[in-house]
Amino acid sequence: MSNQQVRAQPIRRSGSIVVKRVLRMRVKDKHGAFLRGQAREVNLVWNYSQDLSLKVLKREGRFMSAYDMAAYTKGASKEGLSLHSQTVQAVSEEYCTRRRQFKKAKLRWRVSDRNSSQYSLGWIPFKGSAVTIRNGQLHYQGKPISLWDSFGIRDLKIRCGSFSEDSRGRWYVNLTVDVEVRHASGTSAVGIDLGLKELATLSTGEKIQAERFYRDLEPALARAQRANKKGRVKAIHAKIANRRKDFLHKLSTWLVKQHGAIFVGDVDASALAQTRMAKSVLDAGWSMLCTQLQYKGDGAGCWVQVVSEKYSTQTCSHCGIRSGPKGLTGLKVRSWICHGCGTEHDRDTNAAQNILRQGLSEWMSTHSSAAEAKASEPAVNEDVRAPRASSGVGHDPLAAGIPGL
Ligand SMILES: [Zn+2]
Repeated sequence: MSNQQVRAQPIRRSGSIVVKRVLRMRVKDKHGAFLRGQAREVNLVWNYSQDLSLKVLKREGRFMSAYDMAAYTKGASKEGLSLHSQTVQAVSEEYCTRRRQFKKAKLRWRVSDRNSSQYSLGWIPFKGSAVTIRNGQLHYQGKPISLWDSFGIRDLKIRCGSFSEDSRGRWYVNLTVDVEVRHASGTSAVGIDLGLKELATLSTGEKIQAERFYRDLEPALARAQRANKKGRVKAIHAKIANRRKDFLHKLSTWLVKQHGAIFVGDVDASALAQTRMAKSVLDAGWSMLCTQLQYKGDGAGCWVQVVSEKYSTQTCSHCGIRSGPKGLTGLKVRSWICHGCGTEHDRDTNAAQNILRQGLSEWMSTHSSAAEAKASEPAVNEDVRAPRASSGVGHDPLAAGIPGL
């Protein structure tokens, strides 16, 4: 969830509200060499743009616009650069935007030499029309790019985006997408406890079974493994993954339609993945469910928030004392009776109810303090109080994750 950021800039379009959201996904390492090559060419175009801009400034005393520059960079992809012509355009546009934004005649040169202390982390911008998504892969320059797709991306309208490198040399793709916000159809609030035995338990007591996505495929998988048919094994695993993704899409859509607010407990999947239950953890698809809920929540007008699930299992949701099962050994305890008030609890339902209570109290405190602040503040200051997330980047679609500027 940390890799998802809201850049809310509402645009009204025939009655509905469209917000921009930036989805950030890790690119598989095997594409590193290709992307580094592209980034080198981006740097060439960037530095060429700056060189041109400085010359024109010196000679004519004016700043070139992105439009002027396009005439010079148009032929670049024919001159030996392998960059998409739209990427070339995106780079020089970005150069002009930044120069204006920082009110500087000269920006930093972009450095491709990895051994230099001035090295510019790789960055490759593109327009939405330069990429397509097919079968969970991003197609860029006719090349399929594999992603660690925690969003289950599909049916998204991509406006623009970029590839960017982090200081450890890992690559990410940032996609700016349009999400249409509708009014909530559900009004209830629900807490969700994610688990292994049940994928999800709702505070209403409903339990969503951890689907056995592969049970009927297991014999075929075993046969293929015995016969050492690697292609077949791979195909069956892909089929299982697809079924899981499909199921999670259906589940998340159903949840955001049913409810006005959803609070999800923050399972530490990476910690659990190191235990004996690793396989189940990976199969459960918690993080995929959480991210789907978050981006679909916008579309359905549903408030989605992750809350700490600390003590949610131990605490009695009726009287509030910590009388429940503790630690990993307590995982076997499916139901218990509170020694404080004598209420009998289903372990997971009780946890979900605590998550709901925690979520509601967090929601109340943020919203009521915002309302109080607003009431006591002179109207003239309202702009200053606007949340950071909705300012700054809104008018600047390429800004997602540009390193080293
Ligand atoms: Zn109790």
